[in-house]
Amino acid sequence: MNEINRAIKGTNDVLPEESHVWQFVEKKMLSTAALFGFKEIRVPVFEHTEVFQRSVGDTTDVVQKEMYTFDDKGGRSITLRPELTAGVIRSVIENGLYNQSLPQKVCYIGGCYRYEKPQAGRLREFHQFGVECIGAAAPSADAEVISLANSVLKGIGLDKLSLEINSIGCPTCRAVYHKALKEYFEGKKEDLCETCKDRLDRNPMRILDCKSPVCSDIAKDAPKVLDFLCEDCSNHFEAVKAGLNEMGIEYTVNPSIVRGLDYYTRTVFEFVSGDIGAQSTVCGGGRYDGLMEQMGAPATASLGFAMGIERLLLVLKNSEKQVGEKPVCDLYIAPMGEKANVKALAICACLRDKGFSVQSDICGRGLKAQMRYANKIGARFSVVLGDNELESGLIRIKNMETGEDKEIAIESISEELK
Ligand code: ATP
Ligand code: MG
Repeated sequence: MNEINRAIKGTNDVLPEESHVWQFVEKKMLSTAALFGFKEIRVPVFEHTEVFQRSVGDTTDVVQKEMYTFDDKGGRSITLRPELTAGVIRSVIENGLYNQSLPQKVCYIGGCYRYEKPQAGRLREFHQFGVECIGAAAPSADAEVISLANSVLKGIGLDKLSLEINSIGCPTCRAVYHKALKEYFEGKKEDLCETCKDRLDRNPMRILDCKSPVCSDIAKDAPKVLDFLCEDCSNHFEAVKAGLNEMGIEYTVNPSIVRGLDYYTRTVFEFVSGDIGAQSTVCGGGRYDGLMEQMGAPATASLGFAMGIERLLLVLKNSEKQVGEKPVCDLYIAPMGEKANVKALAICACLRDKGFSVQSDICGRGLKAQMRYANKIGARFSVVLGDNELESGLIRIKNMETGEDKEIAIESISEELK
């Protein structure tokens, strides 16, 4: 096929036959978030490159390797968002939302762009649903945000994901942990990948997140962050766990979760699937108490999560659960002749006003072809509209499933469709 007729590598189309599943999932996400008081925010697909460098962090894979960055015609460096938190926080600051009553609770759905090696569950354009809870420091906020992610996933039918949580501490206790990590990795520096050698000085915790098999093998025996938490961070983590216990949300503590973005502090968590292969994290999130300040606003404790919609749909597909309903066509009207064509338009308009999904011929086809089409689109009922019907005001309405038909007045079609 001609190159220009092919979608860019790592991008997917959502075709008309599958879009009802996306609509179901997105509706469930927004409506569940609304139950927790989260309102939708929409931010641009691109931002100044610095927005991502400063928030996601320039020791991360995302910033080092994956961003779609280009100069616009005015010579500014622009980046297609690799995630939405950075842009949302930029907007929260620019619009002064943090000066209004706190917490500010926002949620979003949108496309993200990362130059990655495309494979199952890993795309160059993918979509995230996420939430940000700005200005909430208490551990009950962590428990509530995790329970929101849990409710969304359960509501969609993904009840077999496992929740893994960890705490990566605050800048104070993390400094001590960094030192221990550095000492550990320093002895094995020669074996680390080039990127991790650089990370060793700037952000040794990133090595724990490296995908290279050699680095992850070395990382297995590295000191564990939970052993380094200060008293405040430790108490916070205990209270988050108590909240989850109280809500009956099951989890395991996994000390190797560090998340792929630099802005996290204290609680981090993931919802993981056992059956979509290597790309198993469907949802990732955590607390980012330092981010607002790092982006130029007063320090404001905050947290959030993001879930990858394509990955979530992969899990759903594997579980063979059917969600969402395909749109139905209530009635197909087959007009025969000029007069009937015009009348069919009017009947369609009237029935659509009443909320029915109605279609008629707009291709000038004969009766046989029209009925084939009505069958194909799965119309519940059909009628043939010719000169006789127009004269008498009576038509035969046919139930397409049972094949039964009966004569009724044109005016009473809507009664039959209910
Ligand atoms: P991974 O470890 O899989 O690379 P990540 O740590 O980069 O994930 P985040 O940046 O936290 O992921 O993004 C949150 C979620 O977005 C992920 O858990 C995943 O479901 C989804 N996601 C991230 N990158 C991709 C991608 N390239 N294609 C599809 N989904 C993705
Ligand atoms: Mg990644």
